[in-house]
Amino acid sequence: MDKNLVIENLTITYKNRTALEAIDVVVKEEQLTGILGPNGAGKSTFLKGVLQLIPALSGKSTYLGQPIKKRLKRFAYVEQRQNIELAFPINVIDVVLLGTYPKLGMIKRPGKKEKQLAWKCLEKVGMTDFAQNQISELSGGQLQRVFIARALAQEAEWIFLDEPFAGIDAASEKIMIQLLKQLRDEGISMMIVHHDLHKVQDYFDQVILLNRELIAAGPVAEVFNLDNMKQAYGEEIAEMLKLGGK
Ligand code: ADP
Ligand code: MG
Repeated sequence: MDKNLVIENLTITYKNRTALEAIDVVVKEEQLTGILGPNGAGKSTFLKGVLQLIPALSGKSTYLGQPIKKRLKRFAYVEQRQNIELAFPINVIDVVLLGTYPKLGMIKRPGKKEKQLAWKCLEKVGMTDFAQNQISELSGGQLQRVFIARALAQEAEWIFLDEPFAGIDAASEKIMIQLLKQLRDEGISMMIVHHDLHKVQDYFDQVILLNRELIAAGPVAEVFNLDNMKQAYGEEIAEMLKLGGK
């Protein structure tokens, strides 16, 4: 069975306002998938809706032939940084260790095996020097890497990231994208909300272009063209992007 993520007829409404309407898309596994669209397009809503963290008016998402609800342990979600409670006193290694909890069940505490796994994951993202630091002491890029380590400790097959590069410097962004590409090569599937359109071709294998509705989805070479971008962002985008096409 393939490990694609199948999203059918997903409609999400806040009070009376429809944020996403009848989204049908199959997200291919083991790819870096960019979620693009203007502000308010429903990108964050899409990630949360797929994971059923918010109620959907209609639709479903399926993974390995089961509703996502039954497969949640295989998914990790890193929300937008400004929404994360950084004042909470917890150090880096304990954040990563949290990733091992879903598999442990209700009663068991993490033991030696889990601690070793957490350390390995922290090593993978190059953050062992910070193991004992409070998360409030980290830069934005470092924090993102710690959350990725937590997702790895969870042994997630899919990682969803909401604007992981927002507010981080160019050097950290470069480290991050190299890490994400490495994880992709190792078989992890990722959906990433992103808004710097200049990097799209370099960063992503496939893109999902949203503006309340699905504008287009597929391999970046097919979807990231001027017509589609105009549909999602409006005419002004042409100037900015200098993409080929009509
Ligand atoms: P994006 O991430 O693409 O900027 P969002 O998914 O955050 O867009 O939001 C899509 C639309 O839904 C926006 O118009 C936003 O104002 C609205 N929205 C988002 N979250 C809520 C909420 N919790 N309650 C009401 N409206 C919301
Ligand atoms: Mg958003």
